[in-house]
Amino acid sequence: MLDTLTIPTQRTTNSRLPGVDFASLDFGKTFSDHMLVVDYHDGEWQEPQILPYGPMTVSPANSAIHYGQSIFEGMKAYKNKAGEVSVFRPLDNFHRLNASAERMCMPALPEEIFMQGLLQLVRLDTGWVPDFAGSALYIRPFMFATDAMLGVRPSESYRFMIITCPVGLYYPKPLRVRFEERYVRSAEGGAGFAKNAGNYGAAMYPTKLGQQEGYNQLIWTDASEHKYVEESGTMNAVFIIDGRLVTPALSTSILDGITRRSVLQLARDWGMDVEERKVSALEILDAQANGTLQEAFGVGTAATIASIAVIGYQGEDYTLPVPPTDAFSRRAAAALTAIRSGEAPDTHGWMVR
Ligand code: PMP
Repeated sequence: MLDTLTIPTQRTTNSRLPGVDFASLDFGKTFSDHMLVVDYHDGEWQEPQILPYGPMTVSPANSAIHYGQSIFEGMKAYKNKAGEVSVFRPLDNFHRLNASAERMCMPALPEEIFMQGLLQLVRLDTGWVPDFAGSALYIRPFMFATDAMLGVRPSESYRFMIITCPVGLYYPKPLRVRFEERYVRSAEGGAGFAKNAGNYGAAMYPTKLGQQEGYNQLIWTDASEHKYVEESGTMNAVFIIDGRLVTPALSTSILDGITRRSVLQLARDWGMDVEERKVSALEILDAQANGTLQEAFGVGTAATIASIAVIGYQGEDYTLPVPPTDAFSRRAAAALTAIRSGEAPDTHGWMVR
């Protein structure tokens, strides 16, 4: 099925590639030459197109701007030593996009448009996939409402697009985080499991307050009691306590991260106990106090694994041990790097050429 759709392509006549300094890439600011665009109207998806990357016009009454029907995804393509490019678990992102679409009352996207659009776009812009350590081509699929209409109701027209940008290493330093006990990112029954734009907008103010206190990001806690860990910034939170991997169980308030899935799979492959359950801030601090908290880290596409060095709670900072070279988080990061670079066998079929 996957090779049946050939997407009409208008190539740029003026590639920006020769002017790009791959050694100093700011995350998300340099975009590759092309983008995928497909519109939805009259109850169906129209013909997709690949066009030169560039601005587009939207109505001032665009309903995504006013009422927030806007969702996105994030994943990466990696270049191996032979120069071959593969995307990490794109079907997982496709399914999550459609889960977000359903929650936001938007139309499902056909798999063929997502996968063929992605693969043809990345193939066309292969020259934009960097190959130095820690680098990748970040892929941003997104869908938004396009009705020019101020009534509060689901839009009848939408646009799905994919843009890509070369990126270097993200979050290189161990993080300082603090448990957030006033604001919430999402609540049970809300849309926290979806990747809709509003979740990110609403997280910015509390995050800014945390940053003004010297923390890099917040550990979100549950909306009813502010007791249980939800996520760490825009990453899923993982703890190694007494040799066991402990992570908050998925719910309607937590994003089902693809890096989380992958890291949990590696832990199971390596025979570790994996506990997906409620984990309270106090449990983490107790484990820190009695020396059983071995590691705490965030997992997500941008950084893969970002280790947590300090956790703030009610005005106190608690310092975590520096993970030794054989720490789980380091082995998991190295294993994912090896799979992505083609140096280790891809036993779970995560890479799509
Ligand atoms: N939680 C949130 C809120 C996120 O935005 C992300 C990034 N997509 C993640 C977790 C990690 O998900 P993934 O591993 O799929 O990037």
